[in-house]
Amino acid sequence: MLNEQMFEYGSKSSVIRELFAYGLERKKIVGADRVYDFSIGNPSIPAPRQIKEAILELLEEPAEVLHGYSPAAGDPEVRKALADSVNRKFGTRYSADNFYMTVGAAASISISIRALTNPGDEFITFAPFFPEYEVWVETAGAKLLVTPADPGNFQIDFDALERLISPRTKGVIINSPNNPSGVVYSEKTIRRLAELLERKGKEYQNAIYLLADEPYREIVYDGVQVPFVPFYYKNTLVCYSYSKSLSMPGERIGYIIVPDEAEDSTRVMAAVAGAGRALGYVCAPVLFQKVVARCTEVSGDISAYQQNRDLLYRGLTELGYECVKPQGAFYLFVKALEPDAKAFSEHAKKHDVLVVPGDSFGCGGYVRISYCVSEKTIRDAMPAFAQIMKEYRQ
Ligand code: PLP
Repeated sequence: MLNEQMFEYGSKSSVIRELFAYGLERKKIVGADRVYDFSIGNPSIPAPRQIKEAILELLEEPAEVLHGYSPAAGDPEVRKALADSVNRKFGTRYSADNFYMTVGAAASISISIRALTNPGDEFITFAPFFPEYEVWVETAGAKLLVTPADPGNFQIDFDALERLISPRTKGVIINSPNNPSGVVYSEKTIRRLAELLERKGKEYQNAIYLLADEPYREIVYDGVQVPFVPFYYKNTLVCYSYSKSLSMPGERIGYIIVPDEAEDSTRVMAAVAGAGRALGYVCAPVLFQKVVARCTEVSGDISAYQQNRDLLYRGLTELGYECVKPQGAFYLFVKALEPDAKAFSEHAKKHDVLVVPGDSFGCGGYVRISYCVSEKTIRDAMPAFAQIMKEYRQ
């Protein structure tokens, strides 16, 4: 007898993956430049050269250094280097002990959820949200509640959030800059969220943890600042990865920060280590731990994303499409031209335009367009977007 829940997850591939696979097949038939694939969030700018240099330097290290295990939580020198860098950037006072190295943000969040959860617990997130949250929360034995989207701006609807908070609330998951809306929560929003969670935590005498899912922290435009969440709310676990910021999703490397200020922080960090152990996520890839430790001051050149955002946003809104101008990440969340976003996505497919229905992100009526593609793809796709609009207007 199998575990039916796992069978379900394993046999149902995600809509994004399905569209991406469809695009690859379609490219073989009509040619790569005739398919406008906006389905997947694979960074399109190359990893900074310093990453390659660090890898090459490290390859010269003795085999036992290069290939050996690190401690389960990660190499202490790596964790110290990352703590020092975060301290320089944000004026914090973290040490290696506040860091747990992970296999990307996916592991950062799933470990954090597992570390905190007891049967009957609930987590709350905000539509639109990264679909894997549901898998991670449910397999930890908790329930994911979703605050409906505020479609005018995709910011937090605080009244709706307050209605969902109860003594069962173990945590709230935020993702800013957001996949798929591109929205960044302002300092004012984070302050208000912190005040609400503080008040509710006191009312129920129950710490509510805030999981800040931040793989896009550095991908912001127009000088927008991403508030460093632990400053505003002490019970924050920062779930970071280098997949997007340094264009290294295949290397699978990230970290969790458990600040000393968090309630029960020593026990929370021990539970993080326990969850990493239970999930088999110990000792994140050592070569890439060392690479990121050497590249703490390196940042990706995101100007190509900004150009793509401007081109796509301007092009689509001029054609009459509606969407919030993204301040970060590399997605545009566009109102579908009919209420059923899946039907709209199917219609767009007929023009070889591949966009993901928002239903996958808990927000029907919208589609996600990933603009981590070449500028040419965006330019070439514009006539197809124009034709789609024309057909709906008719
Ligand atoms: N969280 C969000 C919001 C994402 O968009 C992604 C990846 O697309 C992840 C987490 C997972 O990131 P990683 O590849 O670092 O595991």
